[in-house]
Amino acid sequence: MIQRTPTGIEAHLAEDGRSWQQHLSESITSPEILLQRLGLAPEEWLSGAQAGHQLFPIRVPEPFLARMRHGDPNDPLLRQVLPRQEESVRMPGYVRDPLAEDRAVQTTGLIRKYRSRALLMVTGQCAVNCRYCFRRHFPYDEQRLGASDRRQVIDTLSASPEINEVILSGGDPLAVNDRLLAQWAADLSAIPHIRRLRLHTRLPVVIPQRVCDALLKWLSQTRIPVVMVLHINHPAEIDPATRNALGYLRAAGVTLLNQSVILRGVNDNVAVLESLSETLFEAGVMPYYLHAFDPVEGAHHYDVADEEARTLVQGLLARLPGFLIPRLVREEPGRDGKTPINLFP
Ligand code: SF4
Repeated sequence: MIQRTPTGIEAHLAEDGRSWQQHLSESITSPEILLQRLGLAPEEWLSGAQAGHQLFPIRVPEPFLARMRHGDPNDPLLRQVLPRQEESVRMPGYVRDPLAEDRAVQTTGLIRKYRSRALLMVTGQCAVNCRYCFRRHFPYDEQRLGASDRRQVIDTLSASPEINEVILSGGDPLAVNDRLLAQWAADLSAIPHIRRLRLHTRLPVVIPQRVCDALLKWLSQTRIPVVMVLHINHPAEIDPATRNALGYLRAAGVTLLNQSVILRGVNDNVAVLESLSETLFEAGVMPYYLHAFDPVEGAHHYDVADEEARTLVQGLLARLPGFLIPRLVREEPGRDGKTPINLFP
């Protein structure tokens, strides 16, 4: 029998022994188990976690769980995924669709908010359910792409020469298998006016094994440049396995950027944001956006006021070179792009 020497990526996978698909299907989906695994008292946390879980199910993959501190309910990674009682409280101004995306659907699965870019929702599935997600109420079932919708998407994009970039989103587009993603990449890059393919994903962070040979193969063979915008909110999300995975993506020619959301109790601290930018840069990822909180129903307890966000970014200006300072922006429905928040009004 011929023994193959493991390539870099195979060796990276062997450290864990599980494929990304296994990690995805074996994620924690029960509040009781999450609390138990982290040694947190159910009498204190379970009823709030169950209430939130009824509204937006809990989902935490093992590699992400492994980076949380045992016994610490305020761990910044846990704060992003553990439902709390506050989710059941309705607050004025916090709505189900804060970015009015229902008005931006152009054809099934295709959202058009800006002139030159279109968002393609290839799946509603995510590897982790972030409690603050502005799409936590999104009707993914209505946007599920069937075979005829797929043709419609390609026809719509082909007939729209002003669109030069397609963003694969979701859900998390990397929750989809590589055969299907490679097909999308081939079809989209065959449209002459499409100049870039962008992926918005959290998967290489929460399940680094997602960066496998099949993914790297189609990413490196796509005709048009690929930009991957990761979503990392705290430096502790980047562990050695994640750093490895990001290195493989860069070696495949993918441009790596990061967007964060400013979140109460997670990264509303200048030292944490400074460390996040430095850690991203060391991992080969450029900070891109720091998003003001989108007022989604069920997540008001994460909200950080613009004034405070401004002060935090002003603090970064004194600590970091300009190229490591993410742009503080807000997304406002109906605008032509993200709205920069003025740091010195
Ligand atoms: S991974 Fe992204 S789309 Fe999915 S729940 Fe988290 S923030 Fe929302």
